[in-house]
Amino acid sequence: MQARGLSKEYILGKDNRILVIPGMDMDIQQGEFVAIMGSSGSGKSTLLYLLGGLDSPSGGEVRVNGRILPKGQDQNARFRRLTMGVVFQHNNLVPGLTLEENILVAAYLVRKERKGARSKVFTLMNELGIGHIKDRFPAQVSGGEQQRCAIARALVNDPQIILADEPTGSLNSAATRNVLETFTELNARGQTVVMVTHELEAACFARRVIFLRDGEYVDDFPMDPAGAGSEKEKALFLIPINLKND
Ligand code: ADP
Ligand code: MG
Repeated sequence: MQARGLSKEYILGKDNRILVIPGMDMDIQQGEFVAIMGSSGSGKSTLLYLLGGLDSPSGGEVRVNGRILPKGQDQNARFRRLTMGVVFQHNNLVPGLTLEENILVAAYLVRKERKGARSKVFTLMNELGIGHIKDRFPAQVSGGEQQRCAIARALVNDPQIILADEPTGSLNSAATRNVLETFTELNARGQTVVMVTHELEAACFARRVIFLRDGEYVDDFPMDPAGAGSEKEKALFLIPINLKND
């Protein structure tokens, strides 16, 4: 994924514009596991949506596999469905469908063969620990279980790239670990993972951390691949302090 001169401005009224991302160049290589960190309002979600083509830039461009993201919504949806899986901050599950059906809908968009889709959904739900509640509706499960369902939905078509916005934001520590280990495994199998988070514990699973401040790329921090460790955490704690001084 490649961003060049990428900017985003929200226009709220005639004299009311918010420049959230002033102009950014960024490269994410295939097979990376990147965490995007920054304080609340720093533009993390906006950036992730631009990278995923869920929102269109005010300026500049995003390329995925060398191709500029298509502008039309339908074309964009087709491209995204085959390339990317998105996990939203607020999981965006369909309330009238069971957990299993929420995931199946996404699977049927790509797979014509229903039996294969069902068994894929079954396997994923069990891997993520929600197989036993597959027939419940989103309102009948916890926030963490809803989030794991949203993750399963994003993964069901084996996307090359996973974009996740605070995927562990509503999870307890066991579920958080489970989700991060799932991402680590998928990444080890070659999937690119781009995860927005404000949790240090989550960022430690990534191999590179990108820091945003006011929509600008302020630092880019390679992680020691030797597992989550105290050296990494210490180094990460130091970054915001360094930023205050510059
Ligand atoms: P983060 O995810 O880092 O918390 P966001 O990308 O959600 O930050 O938001 C960045 C800034 O853009 C915030 O000031 C937010 O209020 C503003 N913003 C986000 N979405 C919209 C929108 N649809 N319309 C207007 N302003 C928005
Ligand atoms: Mg956000």
